[in-house]
Amino acid sequence: MSTRNLLALTALAGVAFPSTAMAWEHTGWAWNPLEMPLTYIVGNDTVFEDSIDATVDGEPYEVWVAKESYSGWQDATCAEFTHEFIGTTTENYDARTWDGQTHITYDDPGDAEAAGVLAVTFTFPGSLEAGEFAFNKNGNAYYWAEDSDIVFNNDVDFGTDTDIDAGLCLGESSMEAVLTHEVGHLLGMAHSCEDGDVCSDSLLREATMYWSAGPCDTNGSTISQDDIDGLTALYGPFATFECSHELDPESPDTIAQGNVPFDLKCAIVTDASEEISGASWIFGDGGTSDELNPKHTYDVPGNYSIEACFDGVRDTCGEWEYCYRKIGYVRACGVPEPEFTIEHVDGLTYALRNESDVSVYGCIYEIQWDVFQGDTIISSLNAWEPQITFPSEGDFKIVLNLGGPAGTGAAALTVTAEDYAGEGYGCNAVGGAVGGLGWLVGVGLVVARARRRND
Ligand SMILES: [Zn+2]
Repeated sequence: MSTRNLLALTALAGVAFPSTAMAWEHTGWAWNPLEMPLTYIVGNDTVFEDSIDATVDGEPYEVWVAKESYSGWQDATCAEFTHEFIGTTTENYDARTWDGQTHITYDDPGDAEAAGVLAVTFTFPGSLEAGEFAFNKNGNAYYWAEDSDIVFNNDVDFGTDTDIDAGLCLGESSMEAVLTHEVGHLLGMAHSCEDGDVCSDSLLREATMYWSAGPCDTNGSTISQDDIDGLTALYGPFATFECSHELDPESPDTIAQGNVPFDLKCAIVTDASEEISGASWIFGDGGTSDELNPKHTYDVPGNYSIEACFDGVRDTCGEWEYCYRKIGYVRACGVPEPEFTIEHVDGLTYALRNESDVSVYGCIYEIQWDVFQGDTIISSLNAWEPQITFPSEGDFKIVLNLGGPAGTGAAALTVTAEDYAGEGYGCNAVGGAVGGLGWLVGVGLVVARARRRND
């Protein structure tokens, strides 16, 4: 049995999010609560070839199925959106123009859809300046949608669920399943699984937002738990958190930085605080907590993500859960531990090879190499891996200082410079850490722990 594509197209480029641990996916737009109800106009004319010439409950089928498809998403009872049918039009409106009004259109008036495509949703972003976003959730930025239109393709046989479920299907596609899927896109839902994804979870295959639907398949007419979770995450109760040690608390992209060991204190941020009954926290370093406002000690330097899930009860819709994740939120710094080697290049020129641990991003602010001849600094360099040319043969001390928020570490090495042609020779020595010396600029007294030559 062949499957057919249910497409979401958008005028926005680059808003598809990378795959997350969450099952459902969002498109990156949503409707502003101040814009509710979401109104829609339905194409309805007997000359439309691929609409359905029938009435249900005294209404044209196209009108009835539009109301059903919007209402179907209200099975996500904690998702707060409202919708309103405001009329029909006999004009077959080309959706690819911006007029700020949702149209549901038949027969692909722009004749732009490929064979095999059942329907397409076109969504235009709001009038935000480039780079501005409506809000952030789970580290992703969302736009407000301002116009979204749904277009059914031409040359497709659509049927009613009543006929299909009665066994009267001859390969028709369920108009209600297709439209419910497209309304999902309009609301901001992306595909639960995409064409080509390994989709081993049956919950995702059974979702209305699965990427394709076979003929005679009415499954998508009723949204699944995965669809409910995704829409609730977009329009339902919402909680995030903030913690101590934030570098820029006004910014949604701030990180929390501390020097190990330090205690991070976190608190829930929500408009629904009286609804929250429980929380579970994962701190990224193996630590967890079930406290509402926990404290966690970071002992090991690293960049960590925090995920917190909140449970709540809302009078109007019962229990809800929302998980929020801040990726790379915690930067736990230790004192830098410099390490380097030196290699002969040619003549009196040597290359310094920086082998310091940089696995924790953002914990090294400053670097300085000082070259000593006796007690006198003859050269200071700030590059990560500079080359140096000694003024003459003889013994020199080289000190590498690395500074960061947790302090300064230093490593030193004494090298005997020799002037000889580089090719065919090898030379290296290892600079070891010098404990407790701190920032060594201008300090002449350096003891090299490692001195080794093997040319
Ligand atoms: Zn789709």
